Amino acid sequence: MLDDNNKTSANTADIQAIDADHHMHPFTNTGALNKKGARVITRGEGVYLWDSEGNKILDGMAGLWCVNMGYGRSELAEAANTQMKELAYYNTFFQTTHAPVAQLAKEIASITPDDLNHIFFANSGSEAIDTIMRMVRQYWSIKGKPYRNILISRENAYHGSTIGGTSLGGMGGMHGQGGPLVPNIERIRQPYWYGEAGEMSEEEFGLACAKALEDKILEVGPDNVAAFVGEPIQGAGGVIVPPANYWSEIQKVCHKYDILLAADEVICGFGRTGSWFGSDTLSIKPDIISMAKGLSSGYLPIAAVAVGDRIANAFIEHDDDFNHGFTYSGHPVAAAVATANIQLMKKENIVEYVGNDIGPYFQQKLREAVADHPLVGHIEGVGLVVGIALVKDKETKELFGDDTDIGMICRDHCFNNGLIMRAVGSRMVLSPPLVISHAEVDELCEKVRLCFDLTHKSVS
Ligand SMILES: *Cc1c(COP(=O)(O)O)cnc(C)c1O
Repeated sequence: MLDDNNKTSANTADIQAIDADHHMHPFTNTGALNKKGARVITRGEGVYLWDSEGNKILDGMAGLWCVNMGYGRSELAEAANTQMKELAYYNTFFQTTHAPVAQLAKEIASITPDDLNHIFFANSGSEAIDTIMRMVRQYWSIKGKPYRNILISRENAYHGSTIGGTSLGGMGGMHGQGGPLVPNIERIRQPYWYGEAGEMSEEEFGLACAKALEDKILEVGPDNVAAFVGEPIQGAGGVIVPPANYWSEIQKVCHKYDILLAADEVICGFGRTGSWFGSDTLSIKPDIISMAKGLSSGYLPIAAVAVGDRIANAFIEHDDDFNHGFTYSGHPVAAAVATANIQLMKKENIVEYVGNDIGPYFQQKLREAVADHPLVGHIEGVGLVVGIALVKDKETKELFGDDTDIGMICRDHCFNNGLIMRAVGSRMVLSPPLVISHAEVDELCEKVRLCFDLTHKSVS
């Protein structure tokens, strides 16, 4: 319960104590957090959150890149309420279906690129990625080439945290724990031009990264490779926008060796980059894509894989079961909420708003606010997602040493000044709700400037 000041009636310390006793947090040093006490979030409305101490916070991350339509949307609450009363659950395993899942499949097919019109449901981005991993390998098996099972991904990619997602991703900190990893996965360099291209132009570097894919394919043998998987724009890796020629060059290599192309759209999907999917914005023509996060604006857990004709028809014509799925694949309540979410996005023209109005406005305002800041080495982003490289020296791109965790220092200043901005190493990332207004973008950019100033003071 909230009182007039948005404070919970249960006191903050009580919740923190219970949390410390019983709750193990994801991607967290639980011991350290237990000593400090977790921040208790109590309410959300639009682009704002409130904590149990009554602080109002601008959520520059849309939760975890997912609350695209903003907090407190009654349309989505009502869709859940109605569906829960009518049919709270039934599975889609036993030759059964239900209206919400069929409707959602059609709704997704109406916005996916090209022939990606066959939808397989899961509950999280990680499960969607595991589905892609199994599906592309099984595709080649159906085609009589079971040896084509190597998956190629990139360093510093994020594809989730199941054993499949962890193995496919390129996060060293994750690979070091809970192994051994899934075999037959290979990785190539990431297209991080600002950080890793040396003296190469963007175009040269785009070509070099595509060449790295071709070299890897030749190294392991073209006839052993199932698919290349990549995020159109890397998200959790720090928001890395590849050179303009990167994806068309990657695509050429995939075609040359008849390798399937999978786009992990878990962040880029649902308007984040100013089109329905990152593949639209970056002109990628994938054979299969994963989606989650923005699919339901985070209101309920749901994910999907959209499969193009090439792969889908192989499964449809192959007279056998695909032995894969989840108890909650196409959960009716989550499906009803996701359908309501997509319909709301269409009704409010939110994708056009991001593409033509608020996205360009945000990118410009942010650059006006902080491009000249002494800590800012580089800003890259599209639509409503951005990554900012913090550096010790703007000219030489020199980074801060290990003794100065610049990202965490900055993140803490943000936290204490009513802004949620995430740190990925020394990169700061933003991904606000798509419904953010011009005035709220102005406020966001002012806060970013203030927090960079405070961070600069802390380290000088
Ligand atoms: C978040 C994310 C995932 C994993 O999604 P979960 O719902 O956390 O399992 C996979 N891929 C990308 C690109 C993501 O950003």
